[in-house]
Amino acid sequence: MAQDDILKKIIAHSKEYGFIFQSSEIYDGLSAVYDYGQHGSELKNNIKRYWWDSMVKLNENIVGIDSAIFMHPTVWKASGHVGAFSDPLIDNKDSKKRYRADVLIEEYMAKIENKIQKEVDKAEKKFGDTFDEEQFKKTNPRVLANQEKIEAIRTRFVSALEKDDLAELKKIIEDLEIACPVSGSKNWTDVRQFNLMFETKLGSVSEDANSIYLRPETAQGIFVNYLNVQKSGRMKIPFGIAQIGKAFRNEIVARQFIFRMREFEQMEMQFFVRPGEEMEWFKLWKETRIKWHKALGASEKKYRFHDHDKLAHYANAATDIEFDFPMGFKEVEGIHSRTDFDLSQHQEFSGKKIQYFDPETNQSYVPYVIETSIGLDRMFLTILSNAYTEEVIEKEGGKKEERVVLKIPAELAPVKLAILPLLRKDALPEKAREILNDLKYDVNCIYEEKDSIGKRYRRQDAIGTPYCITVDHQTIEDNTVTLRNRDTMEQERIPVEKVREIVIAKTSINNLLKKG
Ligand code: ATP
Repeated sequence: MAQDDILKKIIAHSKEYGFIFQSSEIYDGLSAVYDYGQHGSELKNNIKRYWWDSMVKLNENIVGIDSAIFMHPTVWKASGHVGAFSDPLIDNKDSKKRYRADVLIEEYMAKIENKIQKEVDKAEKKFGDTFDEEQFKKTNPRVLANQEKIEAIRTRFVSALEKDDLAELKKIIEDLEIACPVSGSKNWTDVRQFNLMFETKLGSVSEDANSIYLRPETAQGIFVNYLNVQKSGRMKIPFGIAQIGKAFRNEIVARQFIFRMREFEQMEMQFFVRPGEEMEWFKLWKETRIKWHKALGASEKKYRFHDHDKLAHYANAATDIEFDFPMGFKEVEGIHSRTDFDLSQHQEFSGKKIQYFDPETNQSYVPYVIETSIGLDRMFLTILSNAYTEEVIEKEGGKKEERVVLKIPAELAPVKLAILPLLRKDALPEKAREILNDLKYDVNCIYEEKDSIGKRYRRQDAIGTPYCITVDHQTIEDNTVTLRNRDTMEQERIPVEKVREIVIAKTSINNLLKKG
């Protein structure tokens, strides 16, 4: 299936089954803003819980906070966002479509990378087990030529970004003959900087009002609370502060469903360390975070690290964890060594001393920071795109049937157990509800009695429910039910008293946490 088609199917499926709706849809929607429906919000909460517990519950030296979205406007001057939180934009004069100039160039480089990958895949098929990928990449003339091309573009690109040379960015686009994907034309405007922060007014009388911003990242709420948390929690370095919350960016291009939104949610953790030790911690957090992702069971091939070509003004090392989305490999999480930039800036702008006295070294210093920053919505999309599966199943008598199943990790599934009376009579609904009322305190259950049992199974498959139990006449006689597994579709007969234990054992978030 073409990659575009997969994304389209995921979008349609998300809407049909109550995961994600376009915001204000009855008014034709609001661009790049989405609402989470009944199953989407459950899945989102489960992802949050997995992240929060892995940070806060499992680590004695990491605590969580929940800071306000509105902050003093000087915060954003100190952090550099007022001056520099912008993207270079370019318009195509024919289609009137707007693009990020840097993304156009990055996508051009990614296309060449794909060509290299195709060569590698072809050769791997040809040579089989004896294939040595590294050797091949070092010697194949076509691969070498393409690599050289990428390197030449990258050198120019990074230098233009570092110098903020917008004219050079445009020149690169022209020299590479990059065309607008919509109009096909190369008729571009100049490149301009565009600040991504939303501005609003605080106060009831607009003339007296102060401009404030909707936060573009949650991290600053952590930095400005560093002293509060360190003192009130008597935290000793190294320690971390975690937070989950909304962030807002007036994105120039917002066309990829929940991948790039104007209102989104971040899960960020700032880890404060002794200056000079940041690289060790950077390495450790890289390893810890990739393990967290891989515990979810997607193929290893779906993840890769991508080190930044151009470091942000505050960073001395940065890498992205990229996931193979339907649109290709893209960032889902950033891990950044932010030095003492943010705390030092807040110290300077606020005039308050933000330092740590280290009892082990008898010295005071501004701590260094390693940040792990993951987009909750992008994480949601990794789960959906990895889970969406179309299967053809063989029925009795050679009949074939198609089913769409969301193979969401059972621990994150919105509903863990569906309780289905076989018929709407013979006291089966009453018995099913009795089981539901007993289990609902421990397990997120759903009760369904409408339609044939086959149709009900399909609906549960479509929302990713890992288990269904069916209550039939035998249940009334011997208190047993059939337990159906979403992935294998196998059914087994088990005593009702066992259901809780089996479902909890397979769906507890602790299973994931213990893998980390
Ligand atoms: P990109 O290069 O894709 O714009 P970024 O490097 O600006 O992302 P960061 O500032 O590092 O992103 O933000 C941390 C994380 O927040 C990202 O890894 C991503 O998962 C998430 N994120 C950032 N912008 C958005 C957005 N517009 N919509 C959804 N998630 C986002």
